[in-house]
Amino acid sequence: MTKYKLEYIWLDGYTPVPNLRGKTQIKEFDTFPSLDQLPLWGFDGSSTMQAEGHSSDCVLKPVAVYPDPARKNGLLVMCEVMMPDGVTPHSTNSRATILDDPGAWFGFEQEYFFYKDGRPLGFPEHGYPAPQGPYYTGVGFKNVGDVAREIVEEHLELCLEAGINHEGINAEVAKGQWEFQIFGKGSKKAADEVWIARYLLLRLTEKYGVDIEFHCKPLGDTDWNGSGMHCNFSTEYMRTVGGKDYFEALMAAFDKNLMDHIAVYGPDNDKRLTGKHETAPWNKFSYGIADRGASIRVPHSFIKNDYKGYLEDRRPNSQGDPYAIASQVLKTISEVSTDAFKKAVAA
Ligand code: ADP
Ligand code: MN
Ligand code: MN
Ligand code: MN
Repeated sequence: MTKYKLEYIWLDGYTPVPNLRGKTQIKEFDTFPSLDQLPLWGFDGSSTMQAEGHSSDCVLKPVAVYPDPARKNGLLVMCEVMMPDGVTPHSTNSRATILDDPGAWFGFEQEYFFYKDGRPLGFPEHGYPAPQGPYYTGVGFKNVGDVAREIVEEHLELCLEAGINHEGINAEVAKGQWEFQIFGKGSKKAADEVWIARYLLLRLTEKYGVDIEFHCKPLGDTDWNGSGMHCNFSTEYMRTVGGKDYFEALMAAFDKNLMDHIAVYGPDNDKRLTGKHETAPWNKFSYGIADRGASIRVPHSFIKNDYKGYLEDRRPNSQGDPYAIASQVLKTISEVSTDAFKKAVAA
């Protein structure tokens, strides 16, 4: 028997943005345990905004498991929070009831700032560094400093070793701002991996004395970019059938559901989606080919491929909950009947 370190990870009850929480239990197994071998566990919900003090037990239900690259015999156990009966999802459990579809693929581009001493890493104590321009995908000390890349590389390695479908990194437009991309098939799989990647980043940066600022507009109404979490998505139908008529019907549904999308695309998004800094105004839906100033960017490849492939919703922000974002995208897609277009093709 080997003693394994199981890090149970969950989302707390803070609003509008839940925090990641985690605690460790040691359990013995003959071999590396699978998800169905991991027991339910509990925690004190009164300390996480998930219960009143007099009845504070909440249940942790393991829903995904990854090797923990930072620990010998360690596992990262993504959990849903359940009521004491162990089967009813807690009201803060944003994962239990989302729409899922293994044929729906999601690519999330998580942007964020490194923060130290209350300002972006690399910002001087007073005033601002040189204006935006050279930082995006930049190289060299004056652009990225002396520690950010080390952290980003280490994070990339941790994610890959944990089996997360990490797809890439880049320095972003503002100084101290970076991005990583996570791709997954199915909304739960993709979103679980975004949360675990966020967890790994937060845990990693402890030792650097650096914080991660996920707020979408930490520098307010200035000439510094905000942070998004673009949601690239495709369903099997979009990839294999598609077509201009279906695409236009889909965009009409996105337009109609504008407010439902904005409601789950992260707090304070009106401060970020201003129409400046490669964004579209939050209260007006638009789409455009290769247009980074539209709500939805249609890649060139999509048009060239007869309106087949994936689309990029650029509105979700860096603090958004990927469970809720993916689910809303699927909900709007589900409102557009594919039958109508199949018949049109057949006729
Ligand atoms: P950009 O910065 O130009 O918007 P990125 O390369 O950062 O683009 O992100 C593109 C994202 O699109 C990646 O996360 C990738 O996984 C995702 N993606 C690519 N193909 C598909 C697809 N068919 N369905 C969903 N997402 C996709
Ligand atoms: Mn990107
Ligand atoms: Mn980006
Ligand atoms: Mn993008």
